[in-house]
Amino acid sequence: MIKQVGNTVIRPLHRSTCHCGAVELELSLPDGIVDPRRCDCSICRRKGAIAASVPLAGLRIVKGADVLKEYRFNTMAARHFFCSVCGIYTHHQRRSNPDQYGYNVGCLEGVNPFELGEIPTNDGVNHPADRKLP
Ligand SMILES: [Zn+2]
Repeated sequence: MIKQVGNTVIRPLHRSTCHCGAVELELSLPDGIVDPRRCDCSICRRKGAIAASVPLAGLRIVKGADVLKEYRFNTMAARHFFCSVCGIYTHHQRRSNPDQYGYNVGCLEGVNPFELGEIPTNDGVNHPADRKLP
């Protein structure tokens, strides 16, 4: 978990916004930025965002529920949300853990994701839910 990025201390309730400001989320981050990662699956490699995790109850849509668009593909399990005005990915309901949202670290107010340091890359090409158990 990451509690501070550059000069920005991650607050217990942190604001997240899309680029145009139509969508605003309130994230409950008492443990800071948890499990930040990149992912090389077909959608993440295109959007290039760093995602972190928050329980479903830890994400509240303050405004913009009407402009959020939902996109699903392949197994249709994960729900990817983006602002239909500016196109920015804000969050998604995870397929590997449907009790969590992933959210766009770059949307956190005051956080420059390039100050996070080394970020691990998930093996999204071989999604955990696609791997056969021995
Ligand atoms: Zn927007």
